[in-house]
Amino acid sequence: MTDKDRGILYRLIEFYQNDFKCLCEDEDYSILQIVFAELIIEIIRYANDFRYCTNRKCPCSPESQIRRLHKQHREKLHAQLKYHEDIIEFLEQFHEDNSSESGH
Ligand SMILES: [Zn+2]
Repeated sequence: MTDKDRGILYRLIEFYQNDFKCLCEDEDYSILQIVFAELIIEIIRYANDFRYCTNRKCPCSPESQIRRLHKQHREKLHAQLKYHEDIIEFLEQFHEDNSSESGH
């Protein structure tokens, strides 16, 4: 695991267990709780190279899962993480190598 990945994970988990639990009271709470938990699991997989196949573009890859979660919940995630630009930047990077994929 790189120092950068470890730092992102630390701050995301810290946010999820502290600020998010205290501040998020709207009806999105239970949805976002699952989204954050899934995101944390997928970033742990990414950082540790936990894979079920070698294809990074396969839907089972942590890269695909992070991209899917970020894409589906972009607005709400960005609103929650507005003081955490490094985490947003980290999530955005997974969209960059995606231009050759079709149907998404
Ligand atoms: Zn696969």
